[in-house]
Amino acid sequence: MLKLGTILDFVFPLSCVLCSETGASVCDSCLEVLPRARLGCLRCGRKNPYGLYCPKCRGRFTPDRVLACYKFEGASRELIHSFKYEDITALASPVVIQMAKLVRGDEDYKNFVLVPIPLSRKRRAFRGYNQAELLCRELSEMLGLKWVEILCRTKGRASQVQVGSKAERRRNVKNSFDVAAKLNLPKKVILVDDVITSGATVEEATKVLKRAGAEVVVCLAIALA
Ligand SMILES: [Zn+2]
Ligand SMILES: [Zn+2]
Repeated sequence: MLKLGTILDFVFPLSCVLCSETGASVCDSCLEVLPRARLGCLRCGRKNPYGLYCPKCRGRFTPDRVLACYKFEGASRELIHSFKYEDITALASPVVIQMAKLVRGDEDYKNFVLVPIPLSRKRRAFRGYNQAELLCRELSEMLGLKWVEILCRTKGRASQVQVGSKAERRRNVKNSFDVAAKLNLPKKVILVDDVITSGATVEEATKVLKRAGAEVVVCLAIALA
């Protein structure tokens, strides 16, 4: 049976958001030249290929690893902007293939559950979809992992993009998440967002999950600032 997506592709052929070449929402050659993320400790910025916090910066509630495909600059910034604000939901697939590769690098990945970073109810209603949830759906299909909405927002907050310094960003997200269903909290979580800028949001969400009983939290994003 023809899927709706296939029919829409036929009527409105996809074209690359970066170079306009038809065939895909973002073409392979554009993806290939995007600057790769340099993984490392989110606190002090020291790089390591595994996305680990260094022993000095690691705490009980910090993420175990922080993974991302691209560096958040230039073309990758443009790509994420289209994904986020121009409702180009088809963009997910080519990018999600790259994200899935990062997850498969961990041989224990089958024991993880995907959890999206939620948007506030107001922003969710305004945008019509949560980009992190969209990524989770596709990753779930690609990796054969469950995804669950466990986190919820506890208050409206200023957009992280509008908030200045790193310290301000941390204050801005403090206490902004809660765990919705404590009963079935998975022990191993892959926390999904589209972009990690200061890291304040994923750190706060990780803290909430770990306080509620999660043992391992790996953060995963398309891009890392
Ligand atoms: Zn292209
Ligand atoms: Zn560090």
